[in-house]
Amino acid sequence: MRVDNTLMTPSFTRTLKLKVRSEAYGWLNAAAVEVNQVFNFCNEASWLAATRTDLKRKWLSGFDLCHLTSGAARYFERIGADTIQRICVEYAQKRVAAKRRKLRWRVSRGARRSLGWIPLKAASLKRRGKALRFCGKTFRVFETHRLEGVKWKQGCFAQDAVGDWWLCLPVEYTPEPSVAPEEYVGIDLGLKETAVASEGERLESGRFYRGLEAKIAQAQRCGHRRQAKRLHRKAARRRADALHKFSRRMVNQYQYIAVGDVSSCRLVKTRMAKSVLDAGWGMLKRMLQYKGEYAGRSVAIVSERNTTRACSFCGALTGPTGKDMLVVRRWDCSECAAEHDRDENAARNILYVGLRSRASVCGNELLHEALPVERDTPVLARYGWGVGYETT
Ligand SMILES: [Zn+2]
Repeated sequence: MRVDNTLMTPSFTRTLKLKVRSEAYGWLNAAAVEVNQVFNFCNEASWLAATRTDLKRKWLSGFDLCHLTSGAARYFERIGADTIQRICVEYAQKRVAAKRRKLRWRVSRGARRSLGWIPLKAASLKRRGKALRFCGKTFRVFETHRLEGVKWKQGCFAQDAVGDWWLCLPVEYTPEPSVAPEEYVGIDLGLKETAVASEGERLESGRFYRGLEAKIAQAQRCGHRRQAKRLHRKAARRRADALHKFSRRMVNQYQYIAVGDVSSCRLVKTRMAKSVLDAGWGMLKRMLQYKGEYAGRSVAIVSERNTTRACSFCGALTGPTGKDMLVVRRWDCSECAAEHDRDENAARNILYVGLRSRASVCGNELLHEALPVERDTPVLARYGWGVGYETT
């Protein structure tokens, strides 16, 4: 079941994220305050226009807001007309996307300060040798070589919780679609291991926070808030790194990828919350989806109902079930006596559900059935499934 992707070679945008050198932080912090003022003006103007009682009542578009703010640049020391227009357009888009009548105010000072954000147009960021120039200020960034030969579109300067500034530039990127060496894989997301593939690859749940907890607690006790935030960022980066590596391996190796639709929202309320949040299932799914899209793979998210209980060999619901059975890692099917690793079995079932639902014409109506087994499915033969039929 190869996907023919010779017909389309779409181009994607990926975002380059470059750290700004700290000498510009003062300027950026001050410019961010000006951005907040424009943003809050948009918020208020939009609200006032929408709550008028006469016939002029309307929701302001980005264009309307640009019109209202024209000429405002001369009242600001740092940001220019380009940035103001970008703020207006982004404000209008964000408000519509959030489906709210009003967005939260951007706060410039105090403990609830918004993280700095300065949008820019492509033309207002220029190269000056190895440095960059924006609004009359010269910036230097780390890893300048990544900008070589790159044509950027509008981007932004963004601040993270630690206080560091990053230059984010979406750039066009044309991937070369290829066909993966292997055909199918199913991935089961779990807690003991973040992800287990039907072919046996595992992503250990790294306990990215667990290792740093003591240090974070100590930093907080001593009142070192910045240090604590730095450690949080470290944990987040470790996790992202592990997920990137795993998803890259999967996408490079397999053409069709099925992932369980396990949602963290429900489990977060239980006592497993810490492990759930640490696991990063949502992030892994997103990575698989976009990397798969870039590489011309098909990635499906399928219902994982019954995938742990069903035997991937004979389809009987003989596996462990319920919260108390989470400790059961290996089990034997009482119907066909097949030995199963809990997660690999689930991953195989997920792949199977994915393949079944893909073949169906009417959508995903097969997702909620108990897993039926067909002996003539080529995948089954490939995995040695259905062999149980001969013995029973
Ligand atoms: Zn069985």
